[in-house]
Amino acid sequence: MKRVETTCGYCGCGCGIYVNVADDDTILGIAPSYNHVVSQGKLCSKGWHGFAFVRDSRRLKTPLIRQKDGNFREAGWDEALDLVAAKFKEAMTEEDNTDRIGLISSARCTNEENFLMAKMARAGLKTSSIDHCARL
Ligand code: SF4
Repeated sequence: MKRVETTCGYCGCGCGIYVNVADDDTILGIAPSYNHVVSQGKLCSKGWHGFAFVRDSRRLKTPLIRQKDGNFREAGWDEALDLVAAKFKEAMTEEDNTDRIGLISSARCTNEENFLMAKMARAGLKTSSIDHCARL
């Protein structure tokens, strides 16, 4: 078994956790990080027990691209990301992209992930239209 130190992704608190992982990569359980500056050894029930989604059969494992008939087909990451880039380029034809491109991040992301999302919006996609669910 190995212990992987990481951040709980369920909410913006960002509690410190250890994920106990078996040799076959099965998650055995979660343990709190007692030295973590935010959580100091405490976790809520989501942090302790909310990891069943990792092996849920409904979890998406590959990108899906919507077809003209409305159905989805599986695609590789290169194809999916090329399509996303092409659609963004198409939407960036006007100088002010505020009405054409908007990003929604998440309170479940870490501070660093939200920083990257804001950077991508403002510096990369030239839009200030970015929001996330913690503002509700
Ligand atoms: S353990 Fe609970 S409070 Fe802490 S980050 Fe996870 S969901 Fe939020």
